[in-house]
Amino acid sequence: MIDGPVYCDIPWWSVYIEVTGEVRPCCDYGLVLGNLTQQGAKAIWDERFATLRQLQQLGTAPAGCGQCCAARIGRVGTEG
Ligand code: SF4
Repeated sequence: MIDGPVYCDIPWWSVYIEVTGEVRPCCDYGLVLGNLTQQGAKAIWDERFATLRQLQQLGTAPAGCGQCCAARIGRVGTEG
C-alpha cells in the first residue's frame, strides 16, 4: 500500500486478462477485480473498475496499487 493519491488513467481504458480469466486493470495491480469464467466483462468494468476509478478520484490509493513505478511516484497517465 502506498501513501497519498494515485493519479493513474489506466483504470479508465485498460483491461488486463490472465489466461485463467482473472481481470485486473494492469499487470502490476495486486488484486483480482473479477473473473471472466464467473462474470461478464461489462459487469466487471461497470462495477469493480468503477469502484477503483472512484477511489482514485477521491484521492485514495487503491489497495491493489503500489507495486508499480507509477504508484510509487504517485502519477501515471495523462491527467492534469
Ligand atoms: S497505479 Fe500502477 S498498479 Fe495502479 S492501476 Fe495504475 S499502473 Fe496499475
